[in-house]
Amino acid sequence: MEHLTVVSHPLAAHYLSILRDKETEPEEFRAAARRLTYALVMEATRHAPVKDLTINTPLEETRGTVLGDIVAIAVLRAGLGLLDAVVDLIPHVKVGFAGVQRNEETAEPIEYYFKPPDLENAFVMVLEPMLATGGSLSWAVTKAKESGATDISCLCVVAAPEGVSRMREEHPDVRIFAASLDRDLNDNFYIRPGLGDMGDRLFGTQ
Ligand code: URA
Repeated sequence: MEHLTVVSHPLAAHYLSILRDKETEPEEFRAAARRLTYALVMEATRHAPVKDLTINTPLEETRGTVLGDIVAIAVLRAGLGLLDAVVDLIPHVKVGFAGVQRNEETAEPIEYYFKPPDLENAFVMVLEPMLATGGSLSWAVTKAKESGATDISCLCVVAAPEGVSRMREEHPDVRIFAASLDRDLNDNFYIRPGLGDMGDRLFGTQ
C-alpha cells in the first residue's frame, strides 16, 4: 500500500500557491481550500468501495456503480476548510468531528471533543489540512480506529516529513493524500514553506 500520495496536478498546484501566498485574504483562501480539496477527494476516493448495479439508460440496460458508505471526520478547526468540498462531491457522506488543540510548547494534542458517526465498514476520510508533527492526526486516527474504523485515508493540504514518519510508524495501514510534501518544521512546529496557521487564515483570526 502506498502510504503517502502527493497529488500532483496543475489545478492542485494553482490553488496551493494561492493558499501559500501571505497576501491571500480569508474569502479567497476559503475558496482555494475548497477547490484544492476537490483534487484531494478525487484521488483519495480511488480506494472507496463501490457497489455494482443495473441501470437503464434511455436506450438500454447497462451496468453502473454507486459509492458505498463514506465518512468524513473533520479535525477542528482547520479541517472545516476541507469539509464543504467533501459534502459537495459526496452528498451522502456522514460527518464526524474531532476536537483537538495543540500544546504550543510540545505540539502534542489536547483532546476536547470526538463525535463520529458509525464507522464500521465505512471508507473514512480524516480531514487534517496541516500534517506537521503528526500529533493531532495520529490522535484522530487512533480515536477513529477505537470507534471501529478499519479503512482510513487522511486528506492533508501540506505534509511535513516529521508528520509523515510519525504516521508511518503509528498507523502504517492508513493512506495519506497531500498536495505537497514540504521541507521541515520551524521551532514552533509550523510547516516550512507551508502556508502559516490554516485555521487563522481560514477564519480571519490571529
Ligand atoms: N498547523 C497549521 O495551521 N500550520 C502549520 O504550519 C502547522 C500546524
